[in-house]
Amino acid sequence: MSNQRKIRMLEKCIYKIKLITQSSKNLETGGLIYGRMNPDWVKIYDVSGPGEKAQSSEYSISFDLNYIAEYTFQKISEDYYILGTWHSHPSDTSLNASLIDISTMIKFSKKYNFFYPPIFIIVGWNSGDLNYQLYEVIDNKVRLIKLSEGRFIIE
Ligand SMILES: [Zn+2]
Repeated sequence: MSNQRKIRMLEKCIYKIKLITQSSKNLETGGLIYGRMNPDWVKIYDVSGPGEKAQSSEYSISFDLNYIAEYTFQKISEDYYILGTWHSHPSDTSLNASLIDISTMIKFSKKYNFFYPPIFIIVGWNSGDLNYQLYEVIDNKVRLIKLSEGRFIIE
């Protein structure tokens, strides 16, 4: 059942991701995704940035862990949970998960011991539009969520 879950994301999250990716120029950026999930749906209510002390290059990023911890603490006090992560790829390149992305997603899933499969978003600018691709990790396998299936809804 969980592989047909609907994923609903507030539009303000896309807006925030746009601002963060624009200000990071061509360096990779990203953050955590927060909200709620159950066997039937995922609701994304907020996303974090990488934090001021994050270390990033064009193809990698290490988040500022103090910032992430504080942000997460704040979200948990609002009854939101960590759902996964998002990160950017350089403009006009593929949004496919790299081998490193795949191993990072699987490690993240194991680290947080999710009750339901976590969600990962890769974003990138293409001809002035922000594009995205979604993934979920089920049984330690990374699966692409095909946008054509209509499972991803921005509201
Ligand atoms: Zn990547």
